[in-house]
Amino acid sequence: MKDVNIIWDEALDSLKGSIIAVSYMLWIDNLYPLCIVENELVLVCPTANAKKTVNQKYKDDILVAVQKSEPLVCNILALIESEKESFIEEMNIQSKDIAVKEVTENKVSPFMSRYTFDNFVVGESNKLAFHSAKMVAENPGSSTGYLNFNPLFIYGGVGLGKTHLLHSIGNYITNNLPKLKILYVPTEKLINDFIEALSDSSTNKNSFKAFREKYRSVDVLMLDDVQFLQKKSGLQDVIFHIFNELYQNGKQIILSSDRPPKDIGTLEDRLRSRFEGGLLADIGVPTLEMRIAIIRKKMILEKIAVNDDVVLFLAEKIDTNIRELEGALSKIILFSQLLNKPFPDVETAKEALKVNENEIKKEGIDSEDIISAVSTYFRINESDIVGKKKTKDIVEARMIAIYLVNDLLNLPLVTIGQIFGGRDHTTVIHSRDKILSLMEENKDTQRKIKDIRALLASKK
Ligand code: ADP
Ligand code: MG
Repeated sequence: MKDVNIIWDEALDSLKGSIIAVSYMLWIDNLYPLCIVENELVLVCPTANAKKTVNQKYKDDILVAVQKSEPLVCNILALIESEKESFIEEMNIQSKDIAVKEVTENKVSPFMSRYTFDNFVVGESNKLAFHSAKMVAENPGSSTGYLNFNPLFIYGGVGLGKTHLLHSIGNYITNNLPKLKILYVPTEKLINDFIEALSDSSTNKNSFKAFREKYRSVDVLMLDDVQFLQKKSGLQDVIFHIFNELYQNGKQIILSSDRPPKDIGTLEDRLRSRFEGGLLADIGVPTLEMRIAIIRKKMILEKIAVNDDVVLFLAEKIDTNIRELEGALSKIILFSQLLNKPFPDVETAKEALKVNENEIKKEGIDSEDIISAVSTYFRINESDIVGKKKTKDIVEARMIAIYLVNDLLNLPLVTIGQIFGGRDHTTVIHSRDKILSLMEENKDTQRKIKDIRALLASKK
């Protein structure tokens, strides 16, 4: 049997896909594995309430995820810190041998189980993308008369369901056409693979061949977020050839992007025309009715109950990004649980979302203090720091503010993104990493950060 920490790490990776981000952060991320005894994985929970929630709501999901990594595990036991000692003692008294039962191997799927067509709410803004994704899943690679679905190019803003649709295709084909070989790759990963293959090619002649082989040998190729191919001309060339080959052999290609091909800068013309050569399907911002339907769907999936007026409040408040909508819903649920209210009302909901905007102070500093200090230091309006403007000075101030909020406050990345005008958590990661590397490179950035920290300290 694998090491318990490795099993848990792998299980966490797959849980990230099966549980809504905020619930994951609240209930899963802070568990740790103790040991495996008699095919039972023992997990330690931070609080009694956490243990209760894990037992009531997440045990099955956790077991499925753990079994993907280690099929021999057949049960999950949740303990709290104070039960740990006596458990260990008891274990030492009992037999030390670990009985291992034979369990048939589980096939690990790279697709998130909750991203299915059934779980996708269809409306005006996404029906073209949904129906074409479904057609392609049912008949990959074949063109239906004069309709050409190859490649299928799905585009739309962040958090609107592109990855969900790609995984739905993946899940559908895995279940219904199991003989087909599907490869799903986020474009960032493709880029890394490519760079690795290139850098290995000096020592290993076959590394580049292996890279191409991996992508050429599939029946269905899905590339998520191809806007990242921007400026990657070497890779574009390789992709072009892989595409042609797949296309000529009747293999299905599916792409997603946050913008249409014509808006992807520095994309080679011939690749652009390949991207545009099939079906372009856009996903727009959902209407209020759709947002309500989506929240209802999530409630069923997560087995939670929320009053209608709270659903409406949420759907009205968060109108452009479904990932945020899900996050807000989870926060409201958590907040009402903390208050021991079985059904959150609108007041609780308002409170929950407000609290999350600037909560968890460390040493008396909150995000507002940091934004205000950065604003004073750079002489830039606070509203610009959290706003959309992209001038050089504002971008620098914003990244520094994000970096400091992340560094000084114990806040989840998603929450930080929300504080900064509803940005995605990946933007938070990007800003943080950018500032970290700037600080390594130049004293100027170091000094600015130091000054702002001093400013903050003096304000306390
Ligand atoms: P994108 O890849 O476009 O940034 P995702 O596919 O990751 O967005 O979607 C973000 C979240 O919103 C996911 O949890 C997804 O399940 C959910 N979501 C998006 N659109 C829908 C929809 N129409 N119905 C149900 N859930 C949706
Ligand atoms: Mg995506």
